[in-house]
Amino acid sequence: MNFEAIKQQEQENIMPTYGRFRVALETGKGTVAYDVDGKKYIDFTSGIGVNALGYCDEGWAKAVAEQAARLQHISNLYYNPVQTKLAETLCHLTGYSKVFFGNSGAEANECAIKLARKYSADKYGKERSEIMTLQNSFHGRTVTTLAATGQDVFHQTFTPLTEGFTYAVANDIKDVKAKLTDRTCAIMIEFIQGEGGVRPLEQDFVKELAEVCAERDILLMADEVQTGVGRTGALYCFMNYGVRPDVLTSAKGLGGGLPIGACLCTEKLGAVMGAGMHGSTFGGNPVVCAGALEVLQRVSKEGFLEEVRKKGEYLCSSLSKLSSITQVRGMGLMLGAALKKGTAKEVAAACVESGLLVLTAKDVLRFLPPLVITEEEIDEGITILQKVLEGME
Ligand SMILES: *Cc1c(COP(=O)(O)O)cnc(C)c1O
Repeated sequence: MNFEAIKQQEQENIMPTYGRFRVALETGKGTVAYDVDGKKYIDFTSGIGVNALGYCDEGWAKAVAEQAARLQHISNLYYNPVQTKLAETLCHLTGYSKVFFGNSGAEANECAIKLARKYSADKYGKERSEIMTLQNSFHGRTVTTLAATGQDVFHQTFTPLTEGFTYAVANDIKDVKAKLTDRTCAIMIEFIQGEGGVRPLEQDFVKELAEVCAERDILLMADEVQTGVGRTGALYCFMNYGVRPDVLTSAKGLGGGLPIGACLCTEKLGAVMGAGMHGSTFGGNPVVCAGALEVLQRVSKEGFLEEVRKKGEYLCSSLSKLSSITQVRGMGLMLGAALKKGTAKEVAAACVESGLLVLTAKDVLRFLPPLVITEEEIDEGITILQKVLEGME
């Protein structure tokens, strides 16, 4: 089937919720994807930060295929040795005590929200249920995680949304303190606002936030759905900030391309959610867990994260040299670039035409390449981007 036929089929049978680029991808290997006509694309997106090891990594594909051939699903009514191995690995690598597995970032955040409310209700009474998030944040698409998302555009439809969320200005500790009430039970943050335009939080703000939370027994919850699993050059971004959130959520890159979400918590929260209080049919499915185990084993290997940091610096400096780019923000291989001319959407569409996949976030170009990208591949992508940007001048 050619591109036009696939586009036609999409329009006829799929709800029009996505503004898609004009490309239908069919195969891939590492940092390179091919469309239905055999045209090659350098991938600076990894499927929005999902394919941590790139397309069709050999070890990952083997782990997933072998598990699919051994036992694909058993429900959470029975013990699952692949799930328990993944939980042990994840807790060991992060220093957390317990984990709940769901299937997406939004589900991981839903678990965090339920956990915070339950902890607070048990200890201080039901009224203490408010959760503070930051303006310009993004926490997911379910009705509750939309409410948690601090952007008005997401609040105009689908009302009534879940009650009990307040929004503080990022990097403004005075605003946070002014908006805290005796009903606040948790503060949820992204260390780097991803969808919000690749905006890192300031070190001092995060430190002060952690102190305020600790003083009042307010849970600090980090949404690391995008920043986790090596993306920023540390296994999780909290490690770059020297704080320990009470709750940590992870998804996107964790499964290496399969749907998984994880909500991790510290020792004191480990027993808050009891039997029957939360669950998921697919959560922690053996095949998905086998993929995630392979990802974690590889990303946590000696030298892997150092490479991510090096390549991140290389991509950052390569982008900074382009005359049409006015600012580069972010950490590791999670970068955003502000443009002198043209909208990010226009540039991204032109890049796709020229064989480079890039993302946008608000008004910036966003780069989330697979963590296994090489400097040569970065050069190849930058050459395409440079030509596209020159063409827009
Ligand atoms: C992508 C994202 C989500 C939502 O994840 P889904 O898997 O799409 O539900 C939540 N929080 C952050 C920070 C994200 O980047």
